[in-house]
Amino acid sequence: MAAASDVASALASVSARLTAASARAGRATPPRLVAVSKTKPTAALAAAYAAGQRVFGENYVQELLDKAPAMPADVAWHFIGHLQSNKAKALVAGVPNLACVETVDSVKLADKLNDAAAAAGRGTPLAVLVQVNTSGEASKHGVAPADAPALAAHIATSCPGLAVKGLMTIGQPDYTSRPENFTCLAATRDAVAAALAIPPSTLELSMGMSGDFEAAAEMGSTSVRVGSSIFGAREYPPPA
Ligand SMILES: *Cc1c(COP(=O)(O)O)cnc(C)c1O
Repeated sequence: MAAASDVASALASVSARLTAASARAGRATPPRLVAVSKTKPTAALAAAYAAGQRVFGENYVQELLDKAPAMPADVAWHFIGHLQSNKAKALVAGVPNLACVETVDSVKLADKLNDAAAAAGRGTPLAVLVQVNTSGEASKHGVAPADAPALAAHIATSCPGLAVKGLMTIGQPDYTSRPENFTCLAATRDAVAAALAIPPSTLELSMGMSGDFEAAAEMGSTSVRVGSSIFGAREYPPPA
């Protein structure tokens, strides 16, 4: 496992690169940095926390249920993995400081999360992002870009326990294909904003991972999800 000082210096380096990329694109504020800690031991998360990191991303319900109580209560957890609707209740009930579910890709899942948020008696609606499959790969979860406005509208009108905050995509690992995935997500945001009758700038774009977070920042990402560049390589399969 990486030493605490390694995590702290990697985190500082990622933050600096993010700020520099944003500045190149003329953006005063860099995207939010979600530290993706899946498969990593709590000690690694604690090292990032000690270095000032507060937003963490996890992919697996049971792993997050185990880790959340072991970390300080002011951590903002983002769930970024594929979520089966029958696990929505356990996730929402078990993680009071769940800040965002980034992977809503069906009406069924939205409705289950809405029920879970109501049952948990959260003071504020649970923030969610609509996951969009911008690469068209069968292996990737997410709605087709054309279906995102209808799902967002369903959440906005029928899920009072949820607040639809924007869109998320994974895209292709092949760096050269990513710009298309990123421009697709930005275009989808415009369509969703029109459907909701709100300005596009009020909707988040969660895009960018270790291999391409600087490109994503330059292309308008408001939230990047960076794991291995902070915590070191993983042995798990790639995200879907
Ligand atoms: C694992 C994962 C990441 C982080 O990937 P890295 O390449 O390690 O930065 C980002 N997003 C999702 C959805 C993931 O599953």
